Amino acid sequence: MTNSTERTDTPLIDAFGRQITYVRVSVTDRCDLRCNYCMPEKMRFLPRKDLLTLEELEQLIMTFIGRGARRVRLTGGEPLVRKGIDTLIARLGEQVASGALEEITLTTNGTQLARHARSLAQAGIKRLNVSLDTLDPHKFHEITRRDALLDVLRGIDAAQAEGIRIKLNTVALKDVNEDELPDMIAWAHGRGHDMTLIEIMPMGAVDADRYDQYLPLSQVRNNLEKHWTLQPLSMRTGGPARYVEVEETGGRLGFITPLTQNFCDGCNRVRLTCTGQLYMCLGQEDRCDLRAVLREQGPEAIASALDKAIAQKPKGHDFTIRRQSQKPAVPRTMSATGG
Ligand code: SAM
Ligand code: SF4
Repeated sequence: MTNSTERTDTPLIDAFGRQITYVRVSVTDRCDLRCNYCMPEKMRFLPRKDLLTLEELEQLIMTFIGRGARRVRLTGGEPLVRKGIDTLIARLGEQVASGALEEITLTTNGTQLARHARSLAQAGIKRLNVSLDTLDPHKFHEITRRDALLDVLRGIDAAQAEGIRIKLNTVALKDVNEDELPDMIAWAHGRGHDMTLIEIMPMGAVDADRYDQYLPLSQVRNNLEKHWTLQPLSMRTGGPARYVEVEETGGRLGFITPLTQNFCDGCNRVRLTCTGQLYMCLGQEDRCDLRAVLREQGPEAIASALDKAIAQKPKGHDFTIRRQSQKPAVPRTMSATGG
């Protein structure tokens, strides 16, 4: 395996002049929750042989770092249920320590966080996104089909105690957590956590009807503005979030609105799935099979495969959400692509 992250290669720049500096990696499609907007109760997971080994994942991530990626986010499925994940994180942490990488971070549902918090902090992780849609145990069960709210809250506390900054990711769900959002924001900000609200995206077939769950964030924002002063912040991450500061709480609140706002112009990211499929856009089907390249042609073939793939990064996504159309706009689930 190569550990070299020397910048001997050219940066990855797409046909629209966007440089790829951010890679999201789904390390597993498995999960210990079953959020009803994300996967069906009887989710069929991939056979293990289809998954990249941790060594293959590391090799691909190192190639991206060598081509100018500055940030890596591990996600899933639930990244903390993948066996050996702490080792991969520690290895990537070494890249941060050496300056080859600016940041390694994680999106997690938090259920396993309490027992991983120390090793994440030791690996140099400074920030985590923890997904949490409600603080009510009954609603938590309704949404995730599991009783794990206390584990998540313990995990958040453990990570914070290790000095890791937490941002909560909350999917806005019509008639489910809609009324609770102001309390959740106040709770999060009161504990020093940022929070980002996410609009539901039509990805993957699930048991529920997404149209019934869809709550436009424009509506949420209007409601919040009746009680609070939201000061737009200029910060951008190259991603879809727009941020405000809530004057009354002093905390930061993000809005991710893929359906009502186009966020593609400054897109600096690609997504690698746990089977080595490289998706150039969350909302499009074009992909490059890096597992096949790696296993059939060897590591030397990856550089040119990447060049070809990035040249095809589409200008933008075309998500739409329609009643009737039970077919999702994108057939793969968020857990397969890495949210
Ligand atoms: N299991 C981890 C977690 O929940 O944080 C990481 C993977 S999860 C797919 C990443 C994020 O995607 C979570 O915040 C989740 O709420 C969000 N998500 C999943 N399906 C979604 C959908 N259809 N629309 C919008 N967000 C979704
Ligand atoms: Fe699991 Fe995350 Fe999907 Fe929920 S959103 S089912 S925690 S992968």
